[in-house]
Amino acid sequence: MPTYRSLNLITLALSKGRIFEETLPLLKAAGIEVLEDPEKSRKLILTTNQPNVRVLVVRATDVPTYVQYGGADMGITGKDTLLEHGMEWGGSTSAAGLYTPLDLQIAKCRISVAVKADFDYAAAVKRGSRLKVATKYVAIAREFFASKGVHVDLIKLYGSMELAPLVGMADAIVDLVSTGNTLKANHLVEVEHIMDISSRLVVNQAALKLKQAPIRAIIDAFAGATGAIGK
Ligand code: AMP
Repeated sequence: MPTYRSLNLITLALSKGRIFEETLPLLKAAGIEVLEDPEKSRKLILTTNQPNVRVLVVRATDVPTYVQYGGADMGITGKDTLLEHGMEWGGSTSAAGLYTPLDLQIAKCRISVAVKADFDYAAAVKRGSRLKVATKYVAIAREFFASKGVHVDLIKLYGSMELAPLVGMADAIVDLVSTGNTLKANHLVEVEHIMDISSRLVVNQAALKLKQAPIRAIIDAFAGATGAIGK
């Protein structure tokens, strides 16, 4: 039987790197301070100043999985990751038992199609050519090109997508773009803006029922902090 302590303990899954750094001020504004630095510590479970809140540091793509299977009650990850995990476009819930109540407005970027500067994308689309597209975001790319009626062969990569057109492996890539500097440095140009991306709070729906009060308190604190930081 769950004890009072386990019903009060909230586990929050975060990913290392950019999202983590942008999450810290938001956590602080919500009254939660992580007591260890994940870049220095080898620990994967970090304590916070709130005795009932602990933080897991996992890979960005694993955040929805930890939350779905109850390893974490809630997490923070990009809309890109959630869509790849099966969240419906435009939806706030998914078949995976995940609830995404808040857009935290952090780690903002866009997901785009880019090609080599000398590749005539518009002409290739007009001709009805079959395009080779390299991406980590196969679900988003499949949905996007299907909605445009463009036939594509998707090549799954796990990083450095920019390389694929340069070495002749793909006609196009689908990747996250923030400043556009990475594309520019590799002589690639953005030809389609698929959608804007930002990080979302994601909550396990079963945990929300079991631990209503502490989870609602954190959602409300994040909502307040997002508003405060956005101003
Ligand atoms: P930029 O050169 O600023 O356009 O950044 C592009 C590179 O950073 C690409 O390799 C992206 O995959 C990565 N990137 C940009 N924004 C994000 C984000 N919000 N989350 C994770 N990776 C990102």
